[in-house]
Amino acid sequence: MAEFIKLNEVFGENVFNDAAMQQRLPKKIYMKLREIIESGGELDSETADVIAHEMKEWAMEKGATHYTHWFQPLTGFTAEKHDSFLGTPLESGKALMSFSGKELVKGEPDASSFPSGGLRATFEARGYTAWDCTSPAFVRQDAAGATLCIPTAFCSYNGEALDEKTPLLRSMQALNTQTIRLLALFGKHVRKVTPNVGAEQEYFIVNAEKFKKRKDLIYTGRTLFGAMPPKGQDLNDHYFGTIRQKIAGFMKDVNYELWRMGVPAKTQHNETAPAQHELAPIFTKANVAVDHNQLIMQTLKRVASAHGFKCILHEKPFAGVNGSGKHNNWSLTTDDGTNLLDPGRTPHDNIQFLLILSCVIKAVDMHAGLLRESAANPGNDLRLGADEAPPAIISVFLGEQLEDVVEQLVSTGTATRSIKGGVLSTGVSGLPELNKDATDRNRTSPFAFTGNKFEFRMVGSQDSVAGANIVLNTIVAEAFCEACEVLEKAEDFNAALHELIRENFSNHRRVIFNGNGYSQEWREEAALRGLPNLPTMVSAIPELTRKENVEMFGRFGVFTENELKSRAAVKYDVFAKTRSIEAKVMINMARKQIIPAVIRYTSTLAEDINQLKAAGFDDVDVQKTLLTQINQGLKESFDALVALEEKDNAASAVTDGRELAEYYSTAVVPAMNALRTPIDRLEMLVDKAVWPMPSYGDLMFEV
Ligand code: ADP
Ligand code: MG
Repeated sequence: MAEFIKLNEVFGENVFNDAAMQQRLPKKIYMKLREIIESGGELDSETADVIAHEMKEWAMEKGATHYTHWFQPLTGFTAEKHDSFLGTPLESGKALMSFSGKELVKGEPDASSFPSGGLRATFEARGYTAWDCTSPAFVRQDAAGATLCIPTAFCSYNGEALDEKTPLLRSMQALNTQTIRLLALFGKHVRKVTPNVGAEQEYFIVNAEKFKKRKDLIYTGRTLFGAMPPKGQDLNDHYFGTIRQKIAGFMKDVNYELWRMGVPAKTQHNETAPAQHELAPIFTKANVAVDHNQLIMQTLKRVASAHGFKCILHEKPFAGVNGSGKHNNWSLTTDDGTNLLDPGRTPHDNIQFLLILSCVIKAVDMHAGLLRESAANPGNDLRLGADEAPPAIISVFLGEQLEDVVEQLVSTGTATRSIKGGVLSTGVSGLPELNKDATDRNRTSPFAFTGNKFEFRMVGSQDSVAGANIVLNTIVAEAFCEACEVLEKAEDFNAALHELIRENFSNHRRVIFNGNGYSQEWREEAALRGLPNLPTMVSAIPELTRKENVEMFGRFGVFTENELKSRAAVKYDVFAKTRSIEAKVMINMARKQIIPAVIRYTSTLAEDINQLKAAGFDDVDVQKTLLTQINQGLKESFDALVALEEKDNAASAVTDGRELAEYYSTAVVPAMNALRTPIDRLEMLVDKAVWPMPSYGDLMFEV
């Protein structure tokens, strides 16, 4: 690894990007591929052969021995199967290297073991991966050597999506079509509109040796027991604090690896909780951003291990301090580079922007439950609505300036002024005066307008951002489509436009909320406004198969009803299995590690008491009190353990997927919490030396 990195030379060096394609491919082939990347269409086999050959030559110069179709099944992670470039060995004993157009464009992993939610039985194992040429191929270097990774979509023999990528690409297509249609109403004829995404990634870094001493971290990615250390995040001294040298070295290597693969890692800082950090890349096309985010997560993990750390991506690794999320920044850009969410300096007279804004608000209000569902995973249940992350209620933060414009529009039908930002004075001469933004920020809002983009803050830290963007793209496409239907047949376009904007805002302003999203008052207020509050993953999953949502996804060709049902089934299954594993790990740790350790400690205490008495000391009150307290805790723990075992065993009687998920949510989770409470108390009562695993303090403060 280079001591100092020449960023301009390193960035993108392992990507078969436009520059590499131009340099490598014959002009005619390059032009054909470019056309398909920009406007869609299919590659003919000769063109594919030439591209594959050049790609292979390029990759082998980077040391690649293998290629893989890199895809994103419904596990939330990526999957890959490696094939070497080796062709059939020749008589001479040598071998030619081969990689055909067919191998580039199509793969056939044996797909029977990936979750399909009933879309495919194991005996119908066929699944295909297809090259997504809009996301560039890259060479990844790791312990396996160098591998050419080809981003692909993954679907079944019948063309049903088995992954995150296929519906994401479909949703981008739908949004492209509807936005082009909408812009045409304003006399603007663009060729392409793309959703842009920047996903900020939060994570924890802990010492690998300590991590390995905790079965909960190993098996579930989070701690299932653990008393709070004397200090948590109370002083807020970690957020944006100086990055420790050990961590800085790790971040440097992460950046280096990411930059080489063309991931534009931009910002890094310490986050709120001790041992918590964040990495944000520069935004890019939604499908590429989804790939980049997967690469970021994988690279964080891989480089952490090389530095003697473990990177924890779980949404709530430690109770009592903040968990991790992923902020999904989303905007819409035309092929001439215009950001359609840019309000300009005077939003009140930017009528096109106001229409788009009103459509987004309508979309979010109409499909709030679906958007909330897109951020649901088992880990996020422990985080959302817990005063550290947005509540489970979807609302939109617009800020003072836009809220004022909306208010004017709704009350008078026209907006005539925009609040200005003004100048910020620090009161210190010598410091420059700063232009103030017209709008402050609101960290408690799940869906916040931040100047020229929306920031969806609900997504969990280990989740793919594909789901959230599939929903965003589709619901906005629908709102645009409905606007076009009205405006295309309007006799007086301007009058109809103003009327529609006003109608959208007045019908859907209930979803706009600029206050404190963490407060109890907001929960009550939201209920009065009729906004859905889906507190758990299990309560959110039915949104996938709700009539309106099925119709919408079908209409825009993003999901069939079957695909939605299968996704719901996969999600119930993931929830139940996750909690089942967690319950079993708790049982295992309590039975085999914690309770035996505490029992040994009580024996030691009892022996101490006897020995003290034998030595003539009558006053053994302290020891006795302690022993009584510990014994009491031991009994409570044991009872709770037995109760959890019973609940977990009883799960085998539940056969329906949804009922099983509900059973875990309502019966097993409370039993898990009931076991945790007395055990965390015991941790504070017994000698640290006998506690069989590193404590929260050891993990978070001594990385
Ligand atoms: P923060 O919200 O933490 O203050 P930034 O404004 O720097 O951060 O942006 C955070 C993320 O938003 C980055 O990934 C950035 O690239 C992305 N971003 C910025 N502008 C846009 C945009 N127009 N569309 C989508 N993402 C954007
Ligand atoms: Mg942000």
